[in-house]
Amino acid sequence: MMEMPFVDIDIEDEFAICSTSEVNIKKKRKRTAGRENEEDTERKKKKKKQYRPNYFISIPITNPEITGGIQAVQDTILQKDHRLSKAMVHCGSLHVTLLVMHLSSKEEVSTAVGALSDSKDLVEDLLKGKTVDLSFRGIDHFRNEVGFVKLAESDHTAVLTEVAGTIKKIFQEKGILAGGDRAFKPHLTFMKLSKSPKLHKEVKKIDPSLYEKFKCHYFGDEILHRLDLCSMLKKKQPNGYYYCESSIILGKTHDAELVKEALHRETQALLSKLDQIKKLLSSPEVRKKLSRELFEERHNCTSKGESGVDSGSPNA
Ligand code: C5P
Repeated sequence: MMEMPFVDIDIEDEFAICSTSEVNIKKKRKRTAGRENEEDTERKKKKKKQYRPNYFISIPITNPEITGGIQAVQDTILQKDHRLSKAMVHCGSLHVTLLVMHLSSKEEVSTAVGALSDSKDLVEDLLKGKTVDLSFRGIDHFRNEVGFVKLAESDHTAVLTEVAGTIKKIFQEKGILAGGDRAFKPHLTFMKLSKSPKLHKEVKKIDPSLYEKFKCHYFGDEILHRLDLCSMLKKKQPNGYYYCESSIILGKTHDAELVKEALHRETQALLSKLDQIKKLLSSPEVRKKLSRELFEERHNCTSKGESGVDSGSPNA
């Protein structure tokens, strides 16, 4: 299916970001009772909607060892329950979310682009030239509704938490509504039921036995190298990755690395197209149509040959 804006919202809108004033209002409301409370709940619902995250800072996952491993998990799950195909995260959009935010205007998007650019120096100061090596091992879940690959705990994940905190502070100082009320828990989501509300109605929970085989599997390492400011709602790129408003590259930028990255993105896009063509060609209707057209073409050529008419011939 052609990807359309809003059809494939990959990051959650389940939790809202509360401004400080809203947190205070919440506390006051707890003290009220009865009908007043119901009205407040309604109002709160409306307000929450306003602050649903629509942008996020992403660490893209580009190591083919990791994406390949995740593809294997997804295939194994789908062999057991094909209904879950709509819950699967496309390999091109695999990422670790560092921060979610709500941006409500073009001006706020520009402010966020500036905040990300300002983050580069501060994050690099924090890293002091060291690389952050993210190691992915094992599978876990959130409420049996989201399946994710875990990050092995290490000094590197501690640094990542510091990076996330630094960036959150920079964004908040710029007046951006950033960060939910959950503690930062880095994870690599490969499936979530909320991707398809229709499926979610049918399948309430993901059965952990579906991915049992991979519970302790080592998926590979990803070096923290790039951070993107991505839209949750805008149409995705042809390679399956989110629409990026801006990116920062951490550490020294080598031209060769940039070329490699651009090539990787293009290859992913081509592979994805190739996949679509393969799927299309495997459909019985398309095959039938193609062989009919081929047959008709051959038949036309033969009739033309017999009647001596051949406009394609150099001597014609
Ligand atoms: O950011 P990502 O797309 O990986 O998040 C996948 C889902 O996990 C989202 O629906 C988010 O609400 C949920 N989540 C959660 N608890 C967390 C972090 C994310 O339920 N601590």
